[in-house]
Amino acid sequence: MENQFKQYDLRPELIEALTNNDFVKPTPIQEKVIPKALRGKSIIGQSQTGSGKTLAFLLPIINNVDPSENELQTVITAPSRELANQIYEAAKQLQGARDGLRIGRFVGGTDRGRQEKKLEENNVHIAIGTPGRILDLLTDEALMGHTVRTFVVDEADMTLDMGFLDTVDKIASTFPEKLQMMVFSATIPQKLQPFLKKYMSSPLIIELKPQSVIADSVDNWLIAKKGRNTNELIFKLLKIANPYLALIFANTKTSVDEIHDYLKHQGLRVAKIHGGVEPRERRRTMKAVAAQKYQYVVATDLAARGIDVKGVSHVINAEIPSDNEFFIHRVGRTGRNGMTGTAITLYAPGEENKIAELEAMGIKFTPKAIKNDEIVDSHDRNRRVKRTKENEKLSQTMYGMLKKEQKKHKPGYKKKVRKAVEKEAWFNRRVEKREALRANKRKNKSKGLNKA
Ligand code: AMP
Repeated sequence: MENQFKQYDLRPELIEALTNNDFVKPTPIQEKVIPKALRGKSIIGQSQTGSGKTLAFLLPIINNVDPSENELQTVITAPSRELANQIYEAAKQLQGARDGLRIGRFVGGTDRGRQEKKLEENNVHIAIGTPGRILDLLTDEALMGHTVRTFVVDEADMTLDMGFLDTVDKIASTFPEKLQMMVFSATIPQKLQPFLKKYMSSPLIIELKPQSVIADSVDNWLIAKKGRNTNELIFKLLKIANPYLALIFANTKTSVDEIHDYLKHQGLRVAKIHGGVEPRERRRTMKAVAAQKYQYVVATDLAARGIDVKGVSHVINAEIPSDNEFFIHRVGRTGRNGMTGTAITLYAPGEENKIAELEAMGIKFTPKAIKNDEIVDSHDRNRRVKRTKENEKLSQTMYGMLKKEQKKHKPGYKKKVRKAVEKEAWFNRRVEKREALRANKRKNKSKGLNKA
């Protein structure tokens, strides 16, 4: 089969390197980003881990870099060492396609003095690293910012979340005004906007529908906790499912610790990854996970982005994530490359509205329950969605659409928003009706019992 990357204006040596690495068909984000980035366009790409975004920005960069100029031309930052390492490894796969190209990796926890000495002897064309170390090297003038043409901020929301945005801002301020900037992020939080506006005048915004990341081959189960202990429930599920590799997600470091400790106490070989784990230990764990030495991994959302693990057969959501986008991220970890996968979401009484929000995003759940050590279909989802002030508010998706509506739009957009709002209202009414019907049935039943 002809390599489909040939459709872009890429150097033949790069196409060859892609073929050698079995990259023959661009992913949707690559289709959108590559042609524009090749022409120097600034881009905001909203897309998930696993979408192929790394190659989407690396290919145009490596294609356009000029190794004959002995100067720094591109800087790429990622908010964790693991992520920076992954980008570096991906870049190394393509390095041979450009004679004389030098790529440097600059992350915290490594010998800065040695790096500076090496840079003195041999400049790099592309610098990849974590914000802190990159800024240090720029401040010391071991790296020179004034020759940079392209700046990539990967995982911008996580960068913001980890408190690195100021550092990234300082890095950007050392670059020339005429700069191609590419920012990739799963979500675009409000707090990111001033930074984006400051450095990007009319960026191309590329948004990939998150739904496309959940593969059809994933079973998406929903299990009500009904007051049962979450740790015990997870343990039971793992015993029944016997996963090849299970990723268990929780919202906070404390929850991850609790689940991890409980499972460990039950005798399972389980790893944990969260921002509070000491970096060296985290690196060791990531390596062991990648080498498939664990059958179970408990992680927080942001820390989990650092792991590119293959063969995840099960994803368990111990809690519903705080951000709906994270749900897609979590579930997208399984069912990759056409493999089957199972995602199991546990929810507590009172979280029905959150489930409804996810459903309004197009996510379909199959209700399940545990009965006699088996996972069975559950018909009684018992979702009590009451019309409270809280759920009268619009779901996040709707809110986003309406906010967009205030700006200029293509014809037909208004109709689309109106339809979506109507659909959501219809959905809410339907749930209410069903609940009323059930409540009535229960009332009649208890009346019948009273009579008897
Ligand atoms: P990323 O979203 O950049 O972290 O990439 C996720 C995974 O997809 C990585 O393991 C890449 O090697 C792989 N990948 C990226 N682009 C392609 C492609 N066009 N075809 C096959 N695999 C790809």
